[in-house]
Amino acid sequence: MIDLEALSKYTDIPPTARRLLEKPERQMQLTLNLRTTEDRLVQADAFLVYWNTARGPAKGGIRFWPDVSLAETADLAERMVYKTALVGVPFGGGKSGVAVDPQQMAVPEKAAIIKEFVHLIRNELYGVDYIPAPDMGTTPLDMAVIFGETHRPETVTGKPVRVGGLPGREQATGRGVATATAVALRRMLDLPTQGATVAIQGFGNVGSWAAYFLHKMGVKICAVSDVTDGVYSADGLDVPELVQWVRRGQPLKRFGQGQPITNAQLLAADVDALIPAAIGGVLDENTAQTVQAKLVIEAANGPTTPAGQQALLAAGKKVVPDILANAGGVVASYVEWRQAKSGSLTQQHETYETVDEHISDSFNRVLALAEQHSVSLRTAAEVLAVAEVVQTMRDRGWL
Ligand code: NAD
Repeated sequence: MIDLEALSKYTDIPPTARRLLEKPERQMQLTLNLRTTEDRLVQADAFLVYWNTARGPAKGGIRFWPDVSLAETADLAERMVYKTALVGVPFGGGKSGVAVDPQQMAVPEKAAIIKEFVHLIRNELYGVDYIPAPDMGTTPLDMAVIFGETHRPETVTGKPVRVGGLPGREQATGRGVATATAVALRRMLDLPTQGATVAIQGFGNVGSWAAYFLHKMGVKICAVSDVTDGVYSADGLDVPELVQWVRRGQPLKRFGQGQPITNAQLLAADVDALIPAAIGGVLDENTAQTVQAKLVIEAANGPTTPAGQQALLAAGKKVVPDILANAGGVVASYVEWRQAKSGSLTQQHETYETVDEHISDSFNRVLALAEQHSVSLRTAAEVLAVAEVVQTMRDRGWL
């Protein structure tokens, strides 16, 4: 949870606003119960949280992961409030999750679970109060299943292009991460992208697309990992080959090139920038002390714990916070939503341009404020975002 007390040193947060922002507006705890075959019953906890909807409908992905909890869903919903506010997208913040293991599921079973989840939250979806998108463990195909249930394209983003999805949405979070990394290398380390070195933890949607775009910019992707650990090559890995390898369902650590490494070794790799793009909390006070990279770009949501952040800052590292670094996805989701409501079509290059513009502009504003107050990028980003949400609540007569 962000520290409103600490931020109020830099921006006015009236007590009424603080009370509203300290806890979720609404949270739902559900039990998903589904018989998938005669001898298999799926029972799972499911959650939906609206943290704050002053700026618009609650936007946030659906997570399918075994350890999904109410606390984690609420934390992610809170991040969405500030992410959308920071990058200027008129959405509120929400999130949902189902505590199941997507890696252990056949495609028809996953589709049946998604349909059941749609059934559980049908009022939220039909009211367009909550607009989901893919998150960890869910994909555009799962969003297509949601669309298949509601038949209304504006009820879900991150859909495949053939069912009203946005060209470039699938790539957008990784695209924004790559853009943020390029800005950070240039502005904070005075390094060109050509020849800069990067390690990426997580090679799913966000990690693999970030690798793809960075590779195209001339960055050397020296290490990547997934839940099965990873590979390292000081000369840079062949990213297109790696993407094909993973698409064929092969584990990264068996990729022919480079040498196998563990996730712990990846976090400590000797590179210019480290990009955690998997799960939350991987950089804690212990692992943060092993980080050699000068920059940490938070592609995942919440990869750095507060103690981890302190350790990184004490060691002189710069951390580009998640609400800035991974906001490309929600920017593209907004464009997809607008497209769904207006019936217009968008080209892929327009999506990329919009993502790049929002990420670069927001990054410049964050850097300017960080310099003005001599604070971390995280504090600066949160100050700008909170100020935006507070002003919206004033505009709406909530305060
Ligand atoms: P994904 O399911 O496509 O990929 C997750 C990747 O993380 C996989 O490669 C998986 O093997 C790896 N992983 C899982 N547990 C791991 C572990 N313990 N150690 C190392 N690797 C592990 O998910 P995604 O959509 O790429 O999301 C990744 C992160 O980015 C999440 O934190 C998510 O909340 C965040 N995010 C995603 C989007 C989006 O548009 N998909 C937008 C913003 C933020």
